[in-house]
Amino acid sequence: MAYCTNCGKEFKSGEHFCTACGAKMAETAEKTYEKDVAENKVFAIFAYIGILVLIPILAAPKDSKFARFHANQGLVLLIIEVILSAVGAFLELLGGVLWILGVVLIPAGVVLQALPVIWMIIGIVNAARGETKELPIIGQYTILK
Ligand SMILES: [Zn+2]
Repeated sequence: MAYCTNCGKEFKSGEHFCTACGAKMAETAEKTYEKDVAENKVFAIFAYIGILVLIPILAAPKDSKFARFHANQGLVLLIIEVILSAVGAFLELLGGVLWILGVVLIPAGVVLQALPVIWMIIGIVNAARGETKELPIIGQYTILK
């Protein structure tokens, strides 16, 4: 990630002027960011594919802010995925026993288990585009600095 030298706001990929204060992005920062994206895009994509998040965590260059950003997002997603899949499975089980509530519980369980797939697709698209956008809802959490 590159930051505005004037106000500190983060530059998204493809931006050459700060959206907050209008300052031009420093050329060195721009080059560094673009190089980071080009070299570490594969690591960033792996971050969203389940346990493969370990590849960017362990193998991506330590100074790659782009890979690190996506590794963190992927790790948060993996943890949420485990929780949602357990809760979803429990709801489906409960729905199977309490047959009246099953009408509500079983679809709710299916939705909870499907959510991570949507986040995964969003994350992969962001990584492939060279963007450092947070995932909706869960992307605000930081585990890896
Ligand atoms: Zn600025």
